[in-house]
Amino acid sequence: MKVLVINCGSSSLKYQVIDSESEKVLAKGLCERIGIDGRLVYQNVSKGLDKEVTDAAMPTHKEAVQMVLDALVNDKTGALSDLSEIEAVGHRVVHGGEKFTSSVVITEEVINAVEECNDLAPLHNPANIIGIRACQALMPNVPMVAVFDTAFHQTMPSKAYMYGVPYECYENYKVRKYGFHGTSHSFVSKRACELNGTDYDKTKTIVCHLGNGASICAVENGKSVDTSMGLSPLEGLIMGTRSGDIDPSAVEFIAKKENLDFAGVMNLLNKKSGVEGISGVSSDFRDLKAASDEGNERAQLAIEMFCYRVAKYVGSYIAAMNGVDVIAFTAGIGENTGWLREKVCNYFGYLGLKLDDEANKVAGEDKLISASDSKVKVYCVPTNEELAIARETVALV
Ligand code: ADP
Repeated sequence: MKVLVINCGSSSLKYQVIDSESEKVLAKGLCERIGIDGRLVYQNVSKGLDKEVTDAAMPTHKEAVQMVLDALVNDKTGALSDLSEIEAVGHRVVHGGEKFTSSVVITEEVINAVEECNDLAPLHNPANIIGIRACQALMPNVPMVAVFDTAFHQTMPSKAYMYGVPYECYENYKVRKYGFHGTSHSFVSKRACELNGTDYDKTKTIVCHLGNGASICAVENGKSVDTSMGLSPLEGLIMGTRSGDIDPSAVEFIAKKENLDFAGVMNLLNKKSGVEGISGVSSDFRDLKAASDEGNERAQLAIEMFCYRVAKYVGSYIAAMNGVDVIAFTAGIGENTGWLREKVCNYFGYLGLKLDDEANKVAGEDKLISASDSKVKVYCVPTNEELAIARETVALV
């Protein structure tokens, strides 16, 4: 079955067409600057062709989806001979609140329920719904599935997801930890257990999803039992430009000092903080490493802070699960930076965790990176959220 996977943002739309039997990507790309001017990036992967970039007006997501569909059946570079080959569409949806504990086939009822979660993800959910509507308008007879970033974490026990605020905030407004990157944490934890040759339902795994957005998840016997992101993706690790955990009093303090309103402080915490805000160099770890190697002290500090926070979360999840069998590193930073994995793992010598220095040079490949006598097995596992969405979609249609 050929599945179109859609990940829609407010002004962008990433897509892939995946053949579910071979699990190969046939075509992929993105639409950018939707509603501004518009640009389509398209690549026929199955024929090994180069990326094509086309500037074209995309006033709304509907025109963007239309451009993608046209590109897919283009005479010269199309990856499909006919659009009827697309038998299902899988949509990434960011926030499913407490309503969605797994992926679902999209109906009007589902869209209404996703809309009810808009408050919880005001930047993401409305864009996801626009993407769904645009695809429905152009492919009315193709079944569609919503795959939620939050669903995997709905197994967390209440002691992990509740905040220490008045219970009414939970009852009335559903203020609690939800967690994100669920599709990735689920995919990577399963794959790590597969590589480890252990039963997913009997393994304690910690996944470090370290990308521009970053989160950690404790997966005990196949279920998420805790994760570092919260009500929103701002909680937890220090990220590219997000602060992660801070004392909430700092919000009021900074607001007063900088004369900012709530939106202003939230913008500061989401877009101007993290390793970029600390270093003043970049949110990208390639730039940070280069600056750090040249002696830039703030870049060095940002890297140390990032690794320390990762290690503290891993440590706390070892306590939460009363042990750990497997630690997996994934996403842009986790998959590509042996030096950073080493810095994090150095905090766990007391557990008998030992890396294999040669194996830890790996980038972007599945690999065991711990030494043969390490008490905890450590893996590099590239994440593949699109493939995970395609699998879920096929399973449901
Ligand atoms: P997101 O999906 O959250 O945008 P990614 O998982 O794509 O993030 O990760 C992007 C980040 O990964 C970059 O900002 C950069 O810091 C880091 N990264 C990617 N490739 C490398 C590399 N080869 N070396 C070091 N860092 C890398």
